[in-house]
Amino acid sequence: MKTIETISGMSTFSKTAKKEGKSIGLVPTMGALHEGHLSLVRAAKKENDIVVMSVFVNPIQFGPSEDLDKYPRDFKRDGEMARAAGVDAVFHPSASQMYPEGFSTYVNVEGLTDTLCGASRPGHFRGVTTVVMKLFAIVKPDAAYFGQKDAQQAIVVKKMAEDLNLDIDVRILPVVREKDGLAMSSRNAYLSTDERKDSAVLYQALRKAEDLMRQGETDPAKVVKAMEGMIKAKQNARIDYIAVVDPKNLRDAKTVSGDALVALAVFIGKTRLIDNVIVTIGS
Ligand code: AMP
Repeated sequence: MKTIETISGMSTFSKTAKKEGKSIGLVPTMGALHEGHLSLVRAAKKENDIVVMSVFVNPIQFGPSEDLDKYPRDFKRDGEMARAAGVDAVFHPSASQMYPEGFSTYVNVEGLTDTLCGASRPGHFRGVTTVVMKLFAIVKPDAAYFGQKDAQQAIVVKKMAEDLNLDIDVRILPVVREKDGLAMSSRNAYLSTDERKDSAVLYQALRKAEDLMRQGETDPAKVVKAMEGMIKAKQNARIDYIAVVDPKNLRDAKTVSGDALVALAVFIGKTRLIDNVIVTIGS
């Protein structure tokens, strides 16, 4: 496995692979790897000749009071995990490589980015789409792999690829969970033992929503209320948002029918966790 730290090095690697007729699958990450990331690598390996993983904690997607400085970084461990998973090249640029002085071009997907996480984290998705666009330009992948865990991110990146005619297959893979249902996340490492116990309520509330909807509840407000009750009962939990939306446009669902995305963000102590399920009602 190659570790590549420069943009020119990454670009040359990709150009060589392309000249040899090889397809490239890209798995963008911020490191602190876990099974969720590795599930993306496995999908990428199945569908491409070469797998490139980027490990880059992208400063421009963090707000001023967020956890950029304390975000877990352990590149040695990440490199070992990536190698064991069969990654061909890890792209690990510095922030100054990606954003040299004078950098001033951003990608902004309008409409989909001012709700849900976008409402709580202004500028977050602009940072995400900008770095993903740069990674696409540098790595030149045929396909790129993202997790459904970040449901809004997945929708926004797909929209960017479509709107900008990127000719990159944006693939979305299911949420990988711990035994008690908690979605795997690099941020789970912040949780104390007590908080870790309480964090299981996120998925329990999502399952409750799914049950209610399958039993015929069609009022999204009632679904949200039931979830709120469960989450508020946990001492360490504070709700950022709970929403039932149309997964196509992220607008609030007026009534439950067809596909519904039930999404939430909850602070467990100081740690903000997100999760979601897609529920399909009817045929
Ligand atoms: P991150 O390093 O948190 O930016 O995540 C990198 C990629 O891994 C994103 O596309 C995430 O959606 C995906 N990912 C993170 N956690 C999970 C998970 N538990 N299951 C599936 N994909 C995940």
